[in-house]
Amino acid sequence: MMLRVVPEDSDQLVPLDRAVPGNESPGLLSGPLFGLDAAALAGVLAEEGEPSWRADQIVEAIYHQYIREISSITTLSLDLRRKLAARGRQIGRPEITKAFQSADGTERYLVQCSPGDPTTPGGPATVETVWMPDGDDGEAGDGSSDETKDWRRATICVSSQVGCAVNCQFCLTAKLGLQRNLTAGEIAGQIVAVLDRHGVRVGRDRVNLVFMGMGEPFLNYDNFMAAVRLLVHEVGLSPQRMTVSTSGVVPGIERFANEPPDIRPKLAISLNAPNDEIRAEIMPINRKWPISSVIDAVRRVRLRPHERITFEYVLLGGVTDWPEHALEVARLVRRTGLPAKVNLIAWNPGPQLHYTSPKPETAEQFQKALTAEGIPAYIRQPRGRDIFAACGQLKRTVEA
Ligand code: SAH
Ligand code: SF4
Repeated sequence: MMLRVVPEDSDQLVPLDRAVPGNESPGLLSGPLFGLDAAALAGVLAEEGEPSWRADQIVEAIYHQYIREISSITTLSLDLRRKLAARGRQIGRPEITKAFQSADGTERYLVQCSPGDPTTPGGPATVETVWMPDGDDGEAGDGSSDETKDWRRATICVSSQVGCAVNCQFCLTAKLGLQRNLTAGEIAGQIVAVLDRHGVRVGRDRVNLVFMGMGEPFLNYDNFMAAVRLLVHEVGLSPQRMTVSTSGVVPGIERFANEPPDIRPKLAISLNAPNDEIRAEIMPINRKWPISSVIDAVRRVRLRPHERITFEYVLLGGVTDWPEHALEVARLVRRTGLPAKVNLIAWNPGPQLHYTSPKPETAEQFQKALTAEGIPAYIRQPRGRDIFAACGQLKRTVEA
């Protein structure tokens, strides 16, 4: 078996607890309006002597109409727009600065966070966001403008940090290290920028969100959950169509277990290995929080009716894709006692990464073995591999 050994003295566990810039969202007195909820916007308006119902007009403008300039919010009086501008207020929604298109329809975006806003802790940053129409885009008949676009499986994959500290050995994002946390507005703003680009109308069109882009959401917990609340309460998206993936940050899973079920996303755990020995080699975080501690924490999550926990499992050729591994995974999943499924992901290659993808028939056998053990298992189709948009390939590659 081919295992890549991570040196014990490597510093990769240290940054998990380190304070990083960008932990706090900027306060009410300055910073972008995008990212503030209705109550916070009402606070901004109160400073200008304006009634709180004006906050609803701003919510409508920035979260539903996707307006990006205060001067364009025509429901506000000219006088108020001027007052806000005079105070240096901006909407400051993240902007798509570059788009790469895959042959399969997937689009990968470079997104500039907090454009033009020097007050964001840690300064402006670029992250990546991915749109996966999954073949349904363009199916909508004659394309008349008022026709409902029902992409069904269209999915937006969003980043929670610039880079990542977790250092999974198979992941390209890890090569960036952790540069900074994103604020709630920067996380939610990536999604709104993509909704805007594709003319998605929430309430009319259906989209799914996955917090599976760059970074470990549970190491930026407060901003991640604030973004979820914003997306649910102000943008109007359903938490039942959102999934957050964690590499197994136990304190984060414990906090997540205490969130009210009606505003939290579904949970996916990056299991990726059949046992602690292999997992610790490919995911150093396992030395801090081994599989049993992750499973104990997951068992505290109160599931909604029909909800299942997803275990993600990256198939690394020759490393995690052996038939006996499938049996071990089945035992682990059964031990959770929870309704669960396994998403198998064939490893996506990247420069400086020294693994191989499994053979397609090996992935199929792995899936069959799990199914035979009574564990629902699916092979996730790689999307946008040709433009470095697939799982684990997000490293702000600009030459694709
Ligand atoms: N940081 C979080 C979420 C983002 S990664 C996490 O790790 O869970 C999303 C998924 O992509 C994870 O399940 C991760 O294990 C997987 N992944 C990372 N690198 C990959 C690669 N090169 N090929 C396939 N999947 C990969
Ligand atoms: Fe970070 Fe997830 Fe990549 Fe691991 S797989 S390095 S946790 S982004």
